[in-house]
Amino acid sequence: TYSKLPGTSDSIFTVMSQLATEHQAINLSQGFPDYECDPKLINFVAQAMQNGHNQYAPMTGAPALREWVAEKVNTLYGSDYHADKEVTITAGGTEAIFSTLSACINAGDEVIIFEPAYDSYAPTVRMLGGLVKSYEMAPPEYDIDWEMVKKLFTASTKMIILNSPHNPTGKILTETDIQALIKLTKNTDVLILSDEVYEHLIYDGEQHRSLAIYPELRERAIIIASFGKLLHATGWKTGYCLAPEYLMKEFRKVHQFNVFSVNTPMQIGIANYLKNPETYLNLSSFFQQKRDLFRSLLAETKFKLLPCKGSYFQCVSYEHFSEEDDTVMAKRLITDFGVASIPVSAFYTRNTDHRVLRFCFAKKQDTLEKSVERLMKL
Ligand code: GLN
Repeated sequence: TYSKLPGTSDSIFTVMSQLATEHQAINLSQGFPDYECDPKLINFVAQAMQNGHNQYAPMTGAPALREWVAEKVNTLYGSDYHADKEVTITAGGTEAIFSTLSACINAGDEVIIFEPAYDSYAPTVRMLGGLVKSYEMAPPEYDIDWEMVKKLFTASTKMIILNSPHNPTGKILTETDIQALIKLTKNTDVLILSDEVYEHLIYDGEQHRSLAIYPELRERAIIIASFGKLLHATGWKTGYCLAPEYLMKEFRKVHQFNVFSVNTPMQIGIANYLKNPETYLNLSSFFQQKRDLFRSLLAETKFKLLPCKGSYFQCVSYEHFSEEDDTVMAKRLITDFGVASIPVSAFYTRNTDHRVLRFCFAKKQDTLEKSVERLMKL
């Protein structure tokens, strides 16, 4: 039988969300909010449709939205992205990842990824004939030893994929990590895909270190971001990518034949809504409240909390009370306790025995309380 991607099937998010529905469990598996986005935002989108914004947007994205992106990024990170030449609106983060890899990876190219890693990276690299070189991070801190990363470098290294704030661990890149990365890539042609979709979800007064801040990295980086996370509307599948002009040209060659362009009324509606910066600037405190509540509730369960510095995911370890494989444990939590999570082993290519689960806390207070009530019975 034919298979281009043997060993790949429905993503863990699809599997766990389906199982949650089947068993009417509280779904803390796939990352998405269980509350509504701002009605004002919906009005702006409806208005865009009523005002006739219903035909193809420009291939690169609606100019007003690209201009908003460039201004936001350049203000926050002190960079100088050009709205026409260096910003493209994408059909969500995953399309941006796919188009970036398609535009950059040839057969035989090596790509370094840090595991646990978002599940689309490795299969997409392999689909293109690329080779995945994994650096495994381990709980509880998931630290990176850059001397070991250096050992993964060969003459065929084409790209490094970074993700900060990190899904699933909530880890963020530190200044030390960034400086090591600068040193490691200096005088090379290595490209960087920087998945920054959780850039505005960062806690305890920490700062997001976008690669846009660092000129040495900006010149070799494709940075990916998400309006779904920013606006609590993951189903709109809208995001953007930033890259220096020479890379953006290549990115757009693929993007145009992948989705051609992104749906128009969402882009116009989002651009009009975001004119008011209050709509997104307090995102960190909004989610920090949820994180703090969820952590204090979970502290009463048998689970051990791992750190969470960013993203809307909280990981817990249970290795001190069970030998059970994490996929088995996650399924049992759904069937026997009515709470869905993601087994973190799904983010590794090799088998690991970490026994860590990921919960999404982008949920109503009531949902978080009810789910922990159920987990208390464990
Ligand atoms: N990014 C989200 C998560 O990690 C889900 C993405 C998806 O389902 N493709 O849960």
